[in-house]
Amino acid sequence: MLTDAHHPQLIDQFGRVVDYIRLSITDRCDFRCIYCMSEDMSFLPRDEVLSLEECSRLVKAFVSLGVSKVRITGGEPLVRKNVLSLLEDISNLPGLKELVMTTNGSQLEHFAEPLKKAGVRRLNISLDSLDAERFRKITRVGDLGKVLRGLAAAKQAGFERIRLNTVLMRGVNDDEALSMLRFAIDQGIDISYIEEMPLGEVDHSRGSTYVSNETTLKLLGKHYQLISSMESSGGPARYWRVPHTQTRVGFISPHSHNFCESCNRVRITCKGELFLCLGQEDKIDLMPLLRNHPNDDQPLINAILGSMRTKPKGHDFDLRRNAPAVIRFMSQTGG
Ligand code: SAM
Ligand code: SF4
Repeated sequence: MLTDAHHPQLIDQFGRVVDYIRLSITDRCDFRCIYCMSEDMSFLPRDEVLSLEECSRLVKAFVSLGVSKVRITGGEPLVRKNVLSLLEDISNLPGLKELVMTTNGSQLEHFAEPLKKAGVRRLNISLDSLDAERFRKITRVGDLGKVLRGLAAAKQAGFERIRLNTVLMRGVNDDEALSMLRFAIDQGIDISYIEEMPLGEVDHSRGSTYVSNETTLKLLGKHYQLISSMESSGGPARYWRVPHTQTRVGFISPHSHNFCESCNRVRITCKGELFLCLGQEDKIDLMPLLRNHPNDDQPLINAILGSMRTKPKGHDFDLRRNAPAVIRFMSQTGG
């Protein structure tokens, strides 16, 4: 079958066009954030993880079907060996408009410049606290100083946009909502507040730490004029502008503002599982198609096209339920 990268071909049963993939290239991470992982995680053996060549082939197949934006994520994508060669391969694909990455920033001090050179256009850097001790508690092992040096290197490297991702948790870091925004404004970068999602079993009950983005927006609005914006970064965030600053404030609110209606993306784990929705279990295993047909992409293309019939209408996160909505951690599916 001939495919044309300029025409969207991934259209689901609800008419939503899928033109954005998030690929997790590793389930490993040098942090153990309390909302993302349990303290004691086990990781996949090497042969159960897609090789970089398989990642590249997979992305190429999606781009041939009209996908124009690729986010590389994890786990922590920068702990994957030879990540730069994969990024170079992907950024050279005809039809691809945007290659972006989500990182915890721990290695950015060394990677910022090479990432930019390899074709990454925008970076999301996760940062949940500006207090070194608290940062360590949230990440269990992280060093705030390193991440801040990473952010400085990213600014120096000249990415089109840098956005902080902040997960606020009641009683943990919700008192930093405002100082995080001030910091983003001072740095001339964007910030998005993400509501904690019930993915995987962690050490606290998700309902006890939940902070609604409505609450955060109200609080920030007392200190800054926030102007609702129609802008989109192609993801689920709704944006507000802070006048006379460079900063856009985003809210990713799976609970208080369900974003499923306009969902344009699918996720692929580092095992090659295609998840049609972050909050549902429906998946298709692409690894066997890659490994059993090393020289023929057609079975892979057919499976991806067929998957559109099974993309669910939306997630059903419910914090009252005292159990994860899905048993996978975010680090497995890729945030
Ligand atoms: N390690 C990288 C990082 O932290 O940026 C990339 C992967 S991480 C899984 C991607 C994003 O998911 C991060 O911004 C993180 O804060 C967010 N995240 C992880 N678990 C989450 C959860 N349970 N609810 C909401 N966001 C979560
Ligand atoms: Fe690692 Fe990112 Fe998960 Fe934190 S949020 S444990 S940095 S994958």
